[in-house]
Amino acid sequence: MAVLVVAAAVLGLLVGSFLNVVVHRVPRGESVVRPASRCPGCGQEIRARHNVPVLGWLVLRGRCAGCGSRISVRYPLVELGTAILFVLLALRLGPPDLPAYLYFGAIGIALALIDLDCRRLPDAIVLPAYPVLAVLLAASAWYRGDWWSLTRAGIGGAALFAFYLLLALAHPKGMGFGDVKLAGLLGGILGYLSWTALVLGAFGGFLLGAVAGVVVLAAGKGDRKTALPFGPFMIAAALIAVFAAGPLGQAYRDLVGLA
Ligand SMILES: [Zn+2]
Repeated sequence: MAVLVVAAAVLGLLVGSFLNVVVHRVPRGESVVRPASRCPGCGQEIRARHNVPVLGWLVLRGRCAGCGSRISVRYPLVELGTAILFVLLALRLGPPDLPAYLYFGAIGIALALIDLDCRRLPDAIVLPAYPVLAVLLAASAWYRGDWWSLTRAGIGGAALFAFYLLLALAHPKGMGFGDVKLAGLLGGILGYLSWTALVLGAFGGFLLGAVAGVVVLAAGKGDRKTALPFGPFMIAAALIAVFAAGPLGQAYRDLVGLA
């Protein structure tokens, strides 16, 4: 178990470092592989030893080695956050399911940050995730001999896609088509776990979004027309559902059993 936790943490740091590049470059339509990362202030290439996740930022004390301009604290936080999420997923899920959910966690972090930055969910990340997750979940289903979970993932994906499509058609200003395409992914990944996860993840997004909307209004930071991006709430609710659905479902069954 200790080996698994350390491996998940190291993988999370490395993936988090790559996600920083993805979040910065994908909305600009740039390659995520080349060129090497440069300081936006002076254009100096970032040295390998300063590119080590979290530690590089700490060694530099958050400033570029060349020109001394500030490097956002978001970079090490994204690396740390990805590592923590990977460790939690490794502790929660069995090895057959882990690749699909680590991949989902990684693109979830990237999509949430891009949606916060630019108010969109790029097709370049969302669309390839459909075949990738289909293959990873199918491999898990094959390994466990559990085809019903995969069927449920298909039903969940189609249902959540259709539900969001109806919302987007009925209320075009409130919901974008990017949210619709994301909803299909979330429905699949949640449906694979259980019906409880699907329902919890699907409606949790609206609850989180509503709470955040009230907080923004109460803080006087916006009026009712200030549109919050919805993607981060959908993704946060889905991740919460991955962890909470099992215990909640059990509590519900206990309650019904006792009644
Ligand atoms: Zn610089």
